[in-house]
Amino acid sequence: MEKKYNAFSDELKRVFGCRVHRISVDAGFSCPNRDGTAGNGGCIYCGGKGSGAHGIQSGVSPAEQIEAGKEVMTRKYKAKKFLAYFQAYSNTYAPAEKLKRLYDEALAVDDVVGLIVGTRPDCLPPETIALLGEYARKTYFWLELGLQSPLDRTLEYLGRGHDFASFAEAVRACKREGIRISAHVILGLPGESRDEMLSTATVLNDLGIDGVKIHLLHVMKETPLAELYTRGEVPLLERDEYVGLVCDFLERLRPEISIQRLTGDGGRDHLIAPLWSLRKFEVLNAIDYELERRGSRQGSAFYVRE
Ligand code: SF4
Repeated sequence: MEKKYNAFSDELKRVFGCRVHRISVDAGFSCPNRDGTAGNGGCIYCGGKGSGAHGIQSGVSPAEQIEAGKEVMTRKYKAKKFLAYFQAYSNTYAPAEKLKRLYDEALAVDDVVGLIVGTRPDCLPPETIALLGEYARKTYFWLELGLQSPLDRTLEYLGRGHDFASFAEAVRACKREGIRISAHVILGLPGESRDEMLSTATVLNDLGIDGVKIHLLHVMKETPLAELYTRGEVPLLERDEYVGLVCDFLERLRPEISIQRLTGDGGRDHLIAPLWSLRKFEVLNAIDYELERRGSRQGSAFYVRE
């Protein structure tokens, strides 16, 4: 079935002429929201290694991790081209010279055709943004920036350790350097109405975001969120509610925004709930079928505001 949204995988095929596989890297960074700089406990949903980064090999160099990842993906999928994905924790949380050394090491691995760097808005001083701008000009590059919600009360509840204004400022500064930004958002956060969740799409449109990763709220083991969930304080979405919400969200997004994820990836060993999210392909298929049933697509409900 033809995708009714601007799928990242399709962009990669257009740019590189083949499927390109992401290889996650743990370069040994920390996070200011864990080491006491912005906070101590981390975001309430964050499992080990940062949200969504379980399963990454750590303790070996980026190049070795990428070589190991290449071998697996070449065997399994006959993969030929790769993006080095600095995913674990906050991957700009170090001096610019160190960042340059690590990113260059990753780019020097054969068949690595670009970089994805995930970070927080408070880990982007001017010299780092200038460095990232260089990569944006010389290679295929995306910066992933955690937002989760544009509502400050939600960011506080999540313990993010930054507000929406700092996210917006980081986006504007990066865009001045020509850096493409993919924002992470979570749908289904406690205390947010459906309209508030959907208005996040308008915020992303207005900021000129280039890509988005949409997650559902996962309750992972050994997190503060797990304690709240056990006490019955965290209502979670059912699968069909989530699917409907994602479709509404996509309809409101600018059509050219790259869709880089439509559901989370909790990981069987660490996930407490919702367990339906483990059947990721069923969720993705349900989104495709729902858009088809509606006769709609990404951007159907987007309009340019005066
Ligand atoms: S910013 Fe990322 S790595 Fe840091 S605590 Fe939050 S989810 Fe975890």
